[in-house]
Order: sequence, then structure tokens, then C-alpha cells
Amino acid sequence: MKFGTKTIHAGQKPDPTTGAIMTPVYQTSTYIQSSPGQHSGFEYSRTGNPTRKVLEDNIAALENGKYGLCFGSGLAAIDAVIKLLKPGDEVISTNDLYGGTYRLFTKIFENYGIKFHFIGMENLSNIDNYINKNTKLIWAETPTNPMLNIIDIEMLATISKKHNLTLVVDNTFATPYIQKPLELGADIVMHSLTKYMGGHSDVVMGALICNSEEIAEKLFFIQNSCGAVPGPMDSFLVLRGIKTLHIRMERHCQNGEKIAGFLINHPKVEGVYWPGLKSHKNHNVAKKQMHGFGGMVSFDLKGNNLEDAKKVVENTKYFTLAESLGGVESLCGHPASMTHAAIPKNEREKTGVVDSLIRLSVGIEDIEDLIEDLDSSLSLLV
Ligand SMILES: *Cc1c(COP(=O)(O)O)cnc(C)c1O
Repeated sequence: MKFGTKTIHAGQKPDPTTGAIMTPVYQTSTYIQSSPGQHSGFEYSRTGNPTRKVLEDNIAALENGKYGLCFGSGLAAIDAVIKLLKPGDEVISTNDLYGGTYRLFTKIFENYGIKFHFIGMENLSNIDNYINKNTKLIWAETPTNPMLNIIDIEMLATISKKHNLTLVVDNTFATPYIQKPLELGADIVMHSLTKYMGGHSDVVMGALICNSEEIAEKLFFIQNSCGAVPGPMDSFLVLRGIKTLHIRMERHCQNGEKIAGFLINHPKVEGVYWPGLKSHKNHNVAKKQMHGFGGMVSFDLKGNNLEDAKKVVENTKYFTLAESLGGVESLCGHPASMTHAAIPKNEREKTGVVDSLIRLSVGIEDIEDLIEDLDSSLSLLV
């Protein structure tokens, strides 16, 4: 089955009792047992729910993985991964990272005795310096947020395997339409389904996908023991969103390319960060591992003035100023004061998150309207 067919059919078949084409919302917490311990596959909805199960199977199929698990949010999925570790264990993580992931690692899990090293991963020549006998896991986000750096997953997987580590890739920005980390050697793929996968800015949810039965069993044990599971209605909504993932992503990529091209020629713009640009520092790696370059575009302004950046994001009309990304509608954000406010200024500036940086989640509206919107907002700068 090819990708576009999988988005619509994988894991799903018409309901055998009623013939309903769409997966029903099994709004139930429990299931009948014919005799103690005898049931038809489901016993309690924290452990398993039929609507969630269909979604989990669908997502696993999209990533070409064997096992899928859904969680109440992307962060709940990340939380489950780090719970594979024990006090004393060490993690090497991308430094240009989703702000909430950074907060979870440093403000929650460091208290439980897990040590995190945050490093740039576009150049992997120094990663060996951080690997010791306590190192257990590598956490990578690519493209990174918000700088859209690209990390070579295949090369990272080689290093990870050599040292017997678990490589986890946050694939939220790319989605399996663009990039399939398991095929490139990752052990676990993580998603915030809240973003492109759900695609309509109406649900918060997360997922993990893997191929190893051993890892899947551990993750399932954590999912069931800790209980951060999504409800059936939300699972239904994400399943519905995924049915158009391939055509939405195609349009996100096209619009992203046109917006990047517009910005790069604009006199008020300093730098444009989009992996499809030939001038992007990791463009060759992006070309190798990605099928399309996505709809996330970041840029900063000449003069690097905070007030200028505020003026731009406050005056767009289709690019709504809001957290989040990946929906059909265009959004804009100011990472330094929004998504990345939890990261200290000197830390964030090291990775390029300067005061004038603006991050766009380019939606699937008509491109002429989107360009006109940005053009008129940028024209307010003197
Ligand atoms: C949003 C996001 C998360 C966290 O997911 P939630 O669903 O908000 O909990 C993690 N990683 C990336 C790259 C994200 O964009």
C-alpha cells in the first residue's frame, strides 16, 4: 500500500456490526467479559480502546513501523520515552529543541537523576566526547525548532548503534510524508499529533512508533501504568485529519517554498531558514533524507530589533499570532517570547533564536493572499 492510500485505509475497515465506513468513537471505559478474564481484546480503556487502537495502527503504518502508541499530548509521549531510563543515565539531545521538551528534560527529569547534554547535531564530529558508559539515549529533532536545522539521521543512527544507544527522532515538523526516521535507522519516532498529523488545530495528542518488540513492550507498560492516554473522540479527530495528510503536506511544501522565496528577496529581511533553500547550510542532507521541505519557515530582520518583530507579527491578518503549528491555517510566532521563553536568552541566542526571529507555519491558503499579507506587514517597518 502506498502512502496516500495508507493515510485513508491503514488500520481501518468498515465496522463489522453496522457497516459504518468511518471508525466509530468507542466512548466507553470498559468492556464485557463472558467469563472472568475472557474478553474480545479490550478490557479497560486506559489499557486499550478500539478507536485509539485503529489510530495507533494507522500511525505505525505511515512510519513503516510495527508498533504505534498514542498519548494525551506530545509531551506525554516524550515523558514515556524518558521513563525508559533510570537515575544516573545520560541523554544527548539536540540543543535547538522544542521549548516544552527542554523544560521537561531540565525541570522535571533532571530532578530524577537523569543527565542531559544539549549539543548542536548538524556537525556530528564532537558527539563522541559526550558518550560515556552512562549514556543510554540520543534525542534528535529534525528539522529543528525554530531554526530549521537538519540533522543527518542516518549518520546519527550509525553512531547510536555503535554505542548501543536508543535513538529517538521527534518527527513532528516533517511528518512521515516527508521523512521516515525508522527507515534511516532510528529506534523510536515521536510525534506531536497536535500539529501536522491532526492538521486542524483542534486536538492535543502525541504518539510513539517503533519496530522493536522489546521497546514496544516497555513503552506499552509505561503507557498503561502512567495512564497519559488520549480519549476516543480525540483519536477519531486525528484519524480524520490524517486522511488528508498527503495532500495537505504537498500544499504546505509548495506554499513554504514560495514564502521562503519571497522573504529571501525582501529588503527588511536578514536571514531565511527553510531547508529547501540552496543557501540553507544543511540543504544537501535535507535533500538526501526528506521528500519535500515542509511548511515551516523562520526568518529574522535587518537590525535585529525586538519591536520590529513584534510589529510584523501583530499586523498580519492571515498569519495569526499564536503558539502551535501544522494546521491548515497559517500561524506566526515570536519564539524568543513565546515557544522558547523557557530557554535562557544566552542559551537561545547561541542557537540563533535572536530577538527578531519570526517563525511561520505556512498554511494551505492561496499563496497570493499569504504573500500579500506578509508584504503589507513588513512594509510597516521604517
Ligand atoms: C508541539 C511539539 C511538541 C509537544 O507536543 P504537545 O502535543 O504540544 O505536547 C514536541 N515537539 C515538537 C517539535 C513540537 O512542535
